[in-house]
Amino acid sequence: MTEFDCQETKRHVHEYLHAELSTDEMQDITAHLANCDSCEADYDFEVIFNQVIVRSCTEAPPQELADRVLGKIREIQQGNHH
Ligand SMILES: [Zn+2]
Repeated sequence: MTEFDCQETKRHVHEYLHAELSTDEMQDITAHLANCDSCEADYDFEVIFNQVIVRSCTEAPPQELADRVLGKIREIQQGNHH
């Protein structure tokens, strides 16, 4: 079984979100995310980013989308300060 380190996890977080990995890889990344705040933050950002994109397709103009994404990035960055 391959152990996913932070570099590997961050590289695959997009595929993970879209369930484009093998079952083993999905499980390894799930395990890593559960134990790693850094990668979990990356994953959370990817989730939020996707939700903003999906929502923006129906209701928001591009500038508002950019503002929302930037706002979310700031929220996440502030949340990461210990
Ligand atoms: Zn990690």
